[in-house]
Amino acid sequence: MHGKGLCATMELTDTTMGFRATIGLEIHAELATRSKMFCRCPNNPDALPPNTAVCPICLAHPGTLPVPNKEAVRHILRIGLAVGGSLAWEYSEFDRKNYFYPDIPKGYQISQFAYPLVQGGSLRGVAIRRIHLEEDTARSVHEKEGVTLLDYNRAGVPLMELVTEPVIRSGEEAAAFARELQILLRTLGASHAQMEKGEMRVEANVSVAPEGAPLGTKVEVKNLNSFRAVEKAITYEIERQAKLLSEGGVVQQETRGWDEVREITVPQRRKEAAHDYRYFPDPDIPKLRFPGIAKEDPSWSIEQLRASLPELPWERRERYAAFGLSEDQREALVADPSLADFFDRAVASSGDTNEAARLIANYLLTDVIGAGGIAQLKPEGIAEAVQLYQESLLSSRGVKEVLGLLRQGEGEGREARSVAEHHNLIQVSEEGALQAIVDRVLAREQKAVEEYCAGKEAAMQYLVGQGMRESRGSANPKALRALLEESIKCK
Ligand code: ADP
Ligand code: ZN
Ligand code: MG
Repeated sequence: MHGKGLCATMELTDTTMGFRATIGLEIHAELATRSKMFCRCPNNPDALPPNTAVCPICLAHPGTLPVPNKEAVRHILRIGLAVGGSLAWEYSEFDRKNYFYPDIPKGYQISQFAYPLVQGGSLRGVAIRRIHLEEDTARSVHEKEGVTLLDYNRAGVPLMELVTEPVIRSGEEAAAFARELQILLRTLGASHAQMEKGEMRVEANVSVAPEGAPLGTKVEVKNLNSFRAVEKAITYEIERQAKLLSEGGVVQQETRGWDEVREITVPQRRKEAAHDYRYFPDPDIPKLRFPGIAKEDPSWSIEQLRASLPELPWERRERYAAFGLSEDQREALVADPSLADFFDRAVASSGDTNEAARLIANYLLTDVIGAGGIAQLKPEGIAEAVQLYQESLLSSRGVKEVLGLLRQGEGEGREARSVAEHHNLIQVSEEGALQAIVDRVLAREQKAVEEYCAGKEAAMQYLVGQGMRESRGSANPKALRALLEESIKCK
């Protein structure tokens, strides 16, 4: 009785049955600051020709002295507050993480080991272990077989590292966490966090063990350049390990890479005996003690740091739900903080009602974004167009036309009413003008009036159509119909 296809799918899901997957993420994000982490070089590694945003400090010339970037420190503290972590307020320090590699010119990376700026906190229900600050490495460009070029523009760019506890259960959940972190970083202005540009990089630690057993051996998966890759690679890795275990095999502790083309993870390197980075506090960098810093500059007090946080993504979602926006609309806005800011300004300028908010969301997400983006449209422009619609002065089609014109810069993108008037899009609702139209139609269309009085509904539609023609499309059809019904006196 069983179809072949059914058996095949059963087999697949059976692989992970009786096993439990555990995932912990390590996520790096390049922070959006004007200058690099320990020098004055500009922090925009991709905008400049290779090896031009460099100086003796980030090239690690002897005798140079790193000076920590306050903006970067501030970003990490604000991220920590947003996720409810505890800040290393009394004391934090930078450490040297020693290893030898061409992308790390000093022979060590300045990072944080024992005193990360943030410990604990959670995001999307996932417990966070720590968030610390470090510097990025140079970018290795593998030109062709056997040739690797190095671009030091990226060396010394401020980098956040966030480590979660091993509490995530699936690839889907891991991708959702990473996505939420991206939204948070953008909302805080801490990072552009574009995965495809390497501004945000996700590494996944994946293990599988029988239900109820202690955690299994973990495999670290790298090369995850998109949310889709995060989800797929973890899902694949869970299946691979479960299958191995169910066949009596053992999972090797190793690093694997995601092969985007074949959609499999492939071994990169076996874990040699745990790396010994010989961490020690960097003697060149002063210790961080925030009470003293806040005393000199109150903008560094916890209260002011907290007050500097914008509305957070989950708070925004809740506010949008109260407007009555659909889940899709809420996500589309929250995922794009600059679009959400635009929406908020439009709603504020519209008089702030739930109905206006829903209309603005509809037109913004469907017609404006659908037409290719905001372009020259201003928040006041869409607010006014929607208001004209609510006053029955614009039809829905009229709103779309006006938005199109505003996008192209007519009325400076904000003067919806004058643009609508200029293009004869305003509907006539005004009683006197409508009455004149109705009178002309009724005088001319005796036969349709008789039919209407005899109970033929279609005759009214015909009369409304005649009125619309008479007004050359500018009449408000609802008002026109009401006035027609009122004006016809049947015997
Ligand atoms: P290591 O010392 O090997 O770097 P850590 O304990 O520092 O390991 O953890 C690094 C990351 O791996 C963290 O995100 C953590 O949540 C995750 N992790 C640790 N153990 C496991 C495990 N058994 N399965 C899955 N993830 C794990
Ligand atoms: Zn520099
Ligand atoms: Mg570790």
